[in-house]
Amino acid sequence: MRLPRPGDGRSLGGPDRPGRKTEARIRSELVPPLPKKKYPRARQHQRRSHIFVTMPHLVACPQCHSPRLPHRACPVCGTYRGRTVFRVEEERHRPTS
Ligand SMILES: [Zn+2]
Repeated sequence: MRLPRPGDGRSLGGPDRPGRKTEARIRSELVPPLPKKKYPRARQHQRRSHIFVTMPHLVACPQCHSPRLPHRACPVCGTYRGRTVFRVEEERHRPTS
């Protein structure tokens, strides 16, 4: 931003005087902040090229050999590091038919 200089006539009581409604100030009250230019489709896709869903890393349970998340108790047999940490309720999620 340019600083007002002595002898600059517009700096004294210029357009940025508080209370004065300039065209830019009226527009900023009516229109929200918007991007200046349209993003090209290629640029938009380039930005979104890193946005994707990845498969969770699964390991085989040493007890029942079913796939489970690492560092989590097995949801199938309820064991963690060889110990039973919770009892698995059988036929809990059976669909009602
Ligand atoms: Zn298991």
